Amino acid sequence: MTDSIFAKIIRRELPADIVYEDNLALAFRDKNPQAPVHILVIPKEAIAKLSDAESKDHALMGHLLLTAKRVAEQEGLSEDGYRVVINNGPNGGQTVYHLHLHILGGRQMKWPPG
Ligand code: 5GP
Repeated sequence: MTDSIFAKIIRRELPADIVYEDNLALAFRDKNPQAPVHILVIPKEAIAKLSDAESKDHALMGHLLLTAKRVAEQEGLSEDGYRVVINNGPNGGQTVYHLHLHILGGRQMKWPPG
């Protein structure tokens, strides 16, 4: 996988507003927020997209979801709710090819998404 902008954020070569970090994951505010709270949760391991995840990534994928829950709590979103989104590939609207979960909150979400 070629180096992505998120790999540079992990290595602190690009600035980001980091809100959570552990040995497996990093969470930081989206530079172009689509909601009052818009945070991206990424694995430190370079997985390009959800459809590239394998059985060996089982625990990591669970960790990313639980990290999203933890960060949402930290941001005070638990009571009113929030949305977690993974865009996968061109038709999914993915633009950065380093797997990421979007946490969107602080407003009423609509369905279906565009
Ligand atoms: P995707 O469209 O791939 O699901 O989402 C990529 C997200 O990354 C977009 O919401 C976009 O605003 C965000 N993004 C792209 N480049 C940067 C960056 O350099 N810093 C931050 N914080 N977010 C970025």
